[in-house]
Amino acid sequence: MDFAAQVKASVDIVGVVGEYVRLRRVGSTQSYTGLCPFHTEKTPSFRVHANHQFFKCFGCGQGGDVFKFVQEIERISFYESLKQLAERSGIPLPKRSDYVDTDTKLRAAIYQMHELAEQAFRGGMKGSTGAEARSYLAKRGVGTAEIELFGLGYAERTGHFLTNLLQRQDFPADQMEQSGLVMRREGGGLFDRFRNRLMFPIHNESAGRSQKMINRST
Ligand code: ZN
Repeated sequence: MDFAAQVKASVDIVGVVGEYVRLRRVGSTQSYTGLCPFHTEKTPSFRVHANHQFFKCFGCGQGGDVFKFVQEIERISFYESLKQLAERSGIPLPKRSDYVDTDTKLRAAIYQMHELAEQAFRGGMKGSTGAEARSYLAKRGVGTAEIELFGLGYAERTGHFLTNLLQRQDFPADQMEQSGLVMRREGGGLFDRFRNRLMFPIHNESAGRSQKMINRST
């Protein structure tokens, strides 16, 4: 059972609606009736069904389950209604990130991967790994100060440095490929797209981050 179904099973729609609408049981049925809270009326056309856990108004057509009722009456989102009803039932809420749609998740993951890549490339410019890249830049008048200022990085030549780093962070393979930082070999394995390259970080608020190859270092 998913979280919403679990919450739904733990609340009674009659009790929830009853907090907003004076309900009267219809005969000996499992249905209740009252004045609709969504339109103005003098005779009740609003029904709540306990056995099917839904409400329906024959006057204005409004209807749905307990989440829909709370959404409409409180003018809040589905997520907020879920949260409100979960709290009411004392069910701990999963992390909000679990509800974020796939696109948003992918964008966030790609952004994170590019941040990690930028750090990794900057790290690669230091020490013995980056010696060759630094001397190449020095010959063109680009010194340590400029390297720092522009955040220049170096993607090392091994071909699996960044791939391994991202795998250790548990990014799924398909997200890694979509980041543009990693490619797939014919036959399956993943490897770094950028190898033995100088890297120049591009920051763009709307498009996120990307890494651009500016030159071969050899
Ligand atoms: Zn109505």
